[in-house]
This record gives sequence, C-alpha cells and structure tokens, in this order.
Amino acid sequence: METVTRFAPSPSGRLHLGHAYSALFAAKAARDAGGRFLLRIEDIDKGRSRSEYETGIYEDLAWLGLRWDEPVRRQSDHMADYRHALGRLEAEGLVYPCFCTRKDLREEAARSIAAPHGPDGPLYLGTCRHRSAAEAAERVASGEAFALRLDMARAAARTGPLTFTDRVLGKTAVEPESCGDVVLARKDIATSYHLAVIWDDALQGVTLVTRGMDLLHATHIHRILQALLGLSEPEYHHHRLLTDDSGRRFAKRDRAETIRAMREAGQPAHAVRARAGFPD
Ligand code: GLU
Repeated sequence: METVTRFAPSPSGRLHLGHAYSALFAAKAARDAGGRFLLRIEDIDKGRSRSEYETGIYEDLAWLGLRWDEPVRRQSDHMADYRHALGRLEAEGLVYPCFCTRKDLREEAARSIAAPHGPDGPLYLGTCRHRSAAEAAERVASGEAFALRLDMARAAARTGPLTFTDRVLGKTAVEPESCGDVVLARKDIATSYHLAVIWDDALQGVTLVTRGMDLLHATHIHRILQALLGLSEPEYHHHRLLTDDSGRRFAKRDRAETIRAMREAGQPAHAVRARAGFPD
C-alpha cells in the first residue's frame, strides 16, 4: 500500500520551528517510503483563522523546500461533510446536547477535585447526559446554546476494545475512560478538531499520521470515532516536540522565532532546515 502522510496546520498564527520540524518529518516519511505528502489547512475555527496566515503557511513551506500534492484541502470548505458524520453519530444515539456554560464547567471542576482527570484537565461529569430526551429537545427548540458531546461509555460499548499502532510506542490500548464525553460540535464551531481530522484523514487516504506527542491523547478519541464511523485506521507516528535552547517548546506567541522572521532576517532555508533537525 502506498504511504500517504500529511501536515495539517491551523492558520491561526505564523509557523515556527516546531511546525517546520513536523512538516519536514511528514514529508520525509512519505519520501522514504516513495509515497505522497499532503497539506491540509485546518481552519474550522473561523474566529481564530486568518487568510494571511494560510498564505504564510504556503510561503513558509515552499521556502523550506517542501512540495505537496494539490489541491490542498481546506476544512472550512467541507463543513457539510463533518455535519454528515455528526448526523450519523446522532442518529445512532451516541451524541447528546450539553447546555453547560463555561462557568458551569468551571464550578463543576472546582467542586469535584476527586473527579477523574484526563490530560486536558477534569473530565466532564455528564450533567447533561442525564437529562431526559424531552427536556433536552425542549431546550434545543427554545434556542438555548448547546454543544454536542459524544457519550463515551455508549461509544466504547459499541466499539468494544480498540488499539492503535504507533511506530515508536507499538500497539497501544485505547482508553475511552481517560477521554470522557468529548465535545464534537459547538454553537460557534459546527464540528470539532477530532471529527474533522479523522474524516479527512480517511477521505484523503492518509495511511500514516505523523504529529507531535502532544496529540497522543487525541489519538485515543480518534480511534473510537474511526471505529464508530467505519473509517480506515491509519498507522501513527507521534514525534518528539522540538524545544528551544532553554528547553521550552516553540509556540505561536514567540514572534521572533517564526519561519517568516528567519526568512526575512536572511537565514538560508538549509540552515533553518538543519536547525529543525532535517539537514537535507
Ligand atoms: N491542526 C492541528 C494543529 O495544528 C494538527 C492536527 C493533526 O496533525 O492531527 O495542532
């Protein structure tokens, strides 16, 4: 089977050296296998995405010497796909509306120090999961804002035990209980990163998902969603996170460290590639 990898940045800031590492990593994995490398723009969050950042992504990657298959898939052009996927989960009774506000969630978390925690903080305790269908329908009909959450216990019962395979970690058991009832859509963003990413990876025939270790936990959620929707299972390679000289991870806030700033300061592309750990 042909190896297909992808780099999937969100256009909510300039790319930094950590992104360069991730993009070069994905492109090399494809090249080493004689496969294909794709670029996907993950811009479902309209409030944070900017077209100038998207343009910047193309410029920076091209300057780094990367080439990708066209056309680039831009997620905001495919919201109907994600709605369709969500509709399938809804039709199977795996999703419920959650009316909790941020304040409710904060207060709930403060009250429940002993409650289960995931890598991103306290897990949702399921307040809205216990509402009657009639109450939920009435509140939705009245125009109250809600998010759609995955009923994780029900989802796990449906899929049975699952694993994913990471090139470094090997076969890893999926732990639904560490994920909680994740949000799959919100009032302001009609899909979630989780749903859009698994849909697109399957649709685009991605066989090897390469991304930072910081997203390892998301892979547990992704395997469950893939299994529920009958999508193909890619292999994973969660790579290390590049850090600066003081051991800090690169972040979008470090303006001086953007690829664009390096380019404009006259640094040659090969030197930046080498700094990212990929000297030709
Ligand atoms: N869009 C995500 C990000 O910029 C990465 C998605 C992925 O590689 O799965 O963090």
